[in-house]
Amino acid sequence: MAQTIKILSENLANKIAAGEVIQRPASAVKELIENAIDAHARSLTIVIKDGGKSLIQIVDDGDGMSKEDAVVAFQRHATSKISTYEDLENIRTLGFRGEALASIAAIAQVEMRTRTRESDVGIKIRIDGGIVVEIAEEVTAVGTSIQVKNLFFNTPARRNFLKSDPTEFKHIIDVIQRVGMSHPKVDVKFISDDELVLNLKSTDIHNRVKGIFGEKLAQSLIYVNEKNELIEIKGYLGKPEFSRKARAEQYLFLNGRYIVNRNINHAVFQGYEHILEKGSFPIFILFLNIDPRKVDVNVHPTKMEVKFENEGSIYKIILAAIRKTLSHHDLIPKVEIKETISDGEKLGSQFRSRLANTNQEEVNWKELLRPATPLEKLSQESTRSSGFPSTHAKTDNSFGEPTAGIGSRLDQLQEKNEPMVSSINDFPVWQLHNKYIVVQVESGIMIVDQHAAHERILYEQVSERFNRSESKSQQLLFPHTIQLTVADSALVKQLIPLLDKLGFSLKLFGNTTVILDGVPIDIKPGEEGKILQDILDLYKDDEQNLKIEPRERLAKSYACKAAIKSGDSLNLNEMRSLIRQLFDSKVSLVCPHGRPVIIKLSLSELDRRFGRTS
Ligand code: ADP
Ligand code: MG
Repeated sequence: MAQTIKILSENLANKIAAGEVIQRPASAVKELIENAIDAHARSLTIVIKDGGKSLIQIVDDGDGMSKEDAVVAFQRHATSKISTYEDLENIRTLGFRGEALASIAAIAQVEMRTRTRESDVGIKIRIDGGIVVEIAEEVTAVGTSIQVKNLFFNTPARRNFLKSDPTEFKHIIDVIQRVGMSHPKVDVKFISDDELVLNLKSTDIHNRVKGIFGEKLAQSLIYVNEKNELIEIKGYLGKPEFSRKARAEQYLFLNGRYIVNRNINHAVFQGYEHILEKGSFPIFILFLNIDPRKVDVNVHPTKMEVKFENEGSIYKIILAAIRKTLSHHDLIPKVEIKETISDGEKLGSQFRSRLANTNQEEVNWKELLRPATPLEKLSQESTRSSGFPSTHAKTDNSFGEPTAGIGSRLDQLQEKNEPMVSSINDFPVWQLHNKYIVVQVESGIMIVDQHAAHERILYEQVSERFNRSESKSQQLLFPHTIQLTVADSALVKQLIPLLDKLGFSLKLFGNTTVILDGVPIDIKPGEEGKILQDILDLYKDDEQNLKIEPRERLAKSYACKAAIKSGDSLNLNEMRSLIRQLFDSKVSLVCPHGRPVIIKLSLSELDRRFGRTS
């Protein structure tokens, strides 16, 4: 039989690798700049034409290369940065995969000039689509200059995917800004279509940030500087008033490398919880330093993804650092007081308008829903501003009864910047038989089914979570390994995108094992695995009713299983928090199953029953 399997030629292999490493002109710019920085350049000039499509040129004053190295540098897996596996585990350079030059050269026309300090004469190399066409000695400055022309000229599929010049330009300037921020000591000059776009002089980080973001924004940044044995966190946090509607200005650097990490971003957002408007994103520039042996940067060819050895701890440390820094800047109380007053003023009308479109019975009760406590009694010290309760911390238990920390869960649940009744701290509530909550309201009493109420609240929040682009999850310090049936794991697999939005972070292993390393914030600690299984069970149960959409069905199952149960003893804070959120939810009067959440008894009804005439 004829042999059909062949080893790909190096040139073809390089083209394939290029598909991963060099996706667009900006990726080439990034790789070339990284090489210059690794070669200790003090100054960088980047020149592009037509969004980098026709020309990218990078000139550095770094170490340069010897004649021998210059030739080898373009081969695949050629690197001077690592040589053993131990080196790979302890990377301190930006590059290490030995792929960039080979990839770029395979898909462009490249001309490189380079000289080391030791040699009097430099070398020039020309490579065209991966083929060396010229090697010659040439008089040139110390350092390296690389010219990349007509990127993707021989890979039309990729070329056709390129966006307009302005879009590619935007990607390139993003790359240059990031390098500018992580390396303030390096001079950076950027010229696009013969126009000087950036000219950053060597300086300290503070002035560099000013140079990039402008004076006004830079002045509004709060400096972060926290350190422990695992991690050093330095950088800047934007004040809430400078937040954005998109995730644009968020910069995360790990050991000098720009990275993208959902978890850390989430920790930062979480730190801003309650002080940012809904739908806005904080500006931040964070430089993390961690022992390189504790992180793996070899996750993806672009080296922008990393894996941390202690992801959970890092999450917590960053969250704590952000909260601490923000709280020292007086941002939280200020915003809080303002909000409290305006919310208080709006309160009555809000309930009215909320109930205006509902049925007659509810409209009749609109007055009842107004809490009995006069608004003048608003305390500025809302529950939210009482520092930052650790997610699973137990709340103060005024009755000395055991609690499961539900109150803090409820506090966390409170979606930020929703109008809140939270400032009314002391309306009277009682718990009956660990099942019902009695609330005194203006014109009588309300009896609330605690499970149905919490279910209602969760259901509404979850429906909202599904509509969001990002998900919120609470990292577990110790991930749970859960065994599921093959069918259940198949179900989980199907539901992963939805579960992820809910806040479950899970991975499937084999046919029956699920590793759960993050859960929604509402989940009771210690019961994570059980609740997931319960949710799946209820979800399957509902399967008969095929008309219901999966997300709706999942929202229902989740709300039911994650909610406080009948029989859970609640303390005062927990009860109030629940009631406040119930008042805030859109339809307070029925649970997702249609059972009532609240039963109301008006004073006049009581009077009538007792035979009172006034
Ligand atoms: P990597 O950066 O992963 O090592 P590259 O393909 O990007 O792989 O570069 C290959 C090698 O070429 C580098 O290891 C380095 O020795 C050399 N090199 C590339 N660019 C430069 C430069 N601007 N200055 C000095 N040496 C360079
Ligand atoms: Mg490189």
